[in-house]
Amino acid sequence: QAKLEGLNLVRRYTRGAAISLRNDGIIAREIVSAVDNGELRLCYQPQVSAGDGRVIGMEALLRWQSPTLGTLIPERFMRTAEKLGVITQIGDWVLRNVCQQARIWRDWGYPDLEIAVNISTLQLQRPTFAMEVVEAIQAAGIPSGMIVLEIRQSALAMDMNFVHQTLANLHREGIRLTLDDFGMGDSSLDSLIRFSVDKIKIDRNFVKGLPAGSREVAITCAIIAMGHQLGMKVVAHGVETETQLGFLRRNQCDIFQGHLFGHPMAADEAGEVLRRRFVRSDAFIATQPDRT
Ligand code: C2E
Ligand code: MG
Ligand code: MG
Repeated sequence: QAKLEGLNLVRRYTRGAAISLRNDGIIAREIVSAVDNGELRLCYQPQVSAGDGRVIGMEALLRWQSPTLGTLIPERFMRTAEKLGVITQIGDWVLRNVCQQARIWRDWGYPDLEIAVNISTLQLQRPTFAMEVVEAIQAAGIPSGMIVLEIRQSALAMDMNFVHQTLANLHREGIRLTLDDFGMGDSSLDSLIRFSVDKIKIDRNFVKGLPAGSREVAITCAIIAMGHQLGMKVVAHGVETETQLGFLRRNQCDIFQGHLFGHPMAADEAGEVLRRRFVRSDAFIATQPDRT
């Protein structure tokens, strides 16, 4: 019996691996024309100010409507896109679209809204990257302060001098920089000093452990304190519960993002959220820092 079950497990595993291999093939075949076929779209997830619960920003998150596999999240296709070099084309599309969306929201009367765009390591390493960002901003006619680049710390590890130049140029143009998934992977604190970082984003894995995990608590509080001492704002993402929110508010975290305030949503829906200006004010009232 045990042997039979073992065999079934192996079969299931093999079949799973075969499907994922076949899907990888489909992804590689289809991703190269995704931009030209108009199969990409952007979702937006609200970012909320700790002070008053207002929506102060949106993170743009990419989705791909594969003709064969349906809607895919970046994890499913970004690695392939990077391997095949289409990431450049995709990155351009994302930037252009984010800037156009920013233009719409600016025209609605929200010129201070910050829209965060994720930038892959490969994009950042292109010599023309800074110029392309500036061009996209100018083409859309938006203030450069509306665009915030979210960069993983590992992207800063390689080619330091060259990337340093790129980011310095962007900073000079008024484009802001957030260090994404802070504290995970190859994180070196050195990059906080060497680069003009405006915000750091506490990795979701730390937020997940709040407030029960004493190690997560220690790391979260240390990141917040360090960020503030360096004059940076600290963002927590992956905020899912009022308990997490309460803890983060009591400990002076500046900006929140997560399912508690809204899943990534289509631009239209994000626009409605923006018009309301507040999401989940009930959660905010429930976690008043001075009441606890
Ligand atoms: P990220 O920048 O860390 O983005 C946050 C991810 O967390 C998003 O996944 C979002 O849907 C998810 N998330 C948000 N709130 C919660 C929550 O409360 N709980 C949980 N469990 N998850 C939450 P998504 O959209 O699948 O994106 C995954 C990653 O793909 C992003 O991680 C980002 O690194 C990358 N990515 C997304 N869009 C782009 C893009 O346009 N360009 C590039 N280069 N990378 C992108
Ligand atoms: Mg991000
Ligand atoms: Mg993350």
